[in-house]
Amino acid sequence: MPIYAYACSSCGLQKDVMQKLSDVPLTTCPECGKETFTKQLTAAGFQLKGSGYYATDFKNGGQPKPESEPKPACAPCASAASCPMAGGNA
Ligand SMILES: [Zn+2]
Repeated sequence: MPIYAYACSSCGLQKDVMQKLSDVPLTTCPECGKETFTKQLTAAGFQLKGSGYYATDFKNGGQPKPESEPKPACAPCASAASCPMAGGNA
């Protein structure tokens, strides 16, 4: 189940909310009760993993080419270049 990062622009509350894809987005802040609670684009693990994979594969060629990639250092990271466990330069 995806985890969404929410933030309230009124009181500054930041909260990760686990929701089904079919759930309607929250709008009411649980802290101050105003309708300023909005979903953020930068989110927790679920989105980081997805965006990293697609950015690596689709921006360059338009199609995923696993064989032309450098050897992945670990399964969750599609590219060794973006894997925090691989390099030593980061
Ligand atoms: Zn609030």
